[in-house]
Amino acid sequence: MRFSTGQAAGKGNYRCILCSEIITLKDDSEVLPVCPRCENTKWIKTDSNPE
Ligand SMILES: [Zn+2]
Repeated sequence: MRFSTGQAAGKGNYRCILCSEIITLKDDSEVLPVCPRCENTKWIKTDSNPE
């Protein structure tokens, strides 16, 4: 399931579809950022934890 920057996708970890950067949303009201590494705006939810 894909999510976009600006969406409040819910708590959890999200992986950038381009560079595999993982970010964490800690609150259900938090929105997905632009990828800090590659400026991509598409994310998929993942169970992996950020390193
Ligand atoms: Zn990225």
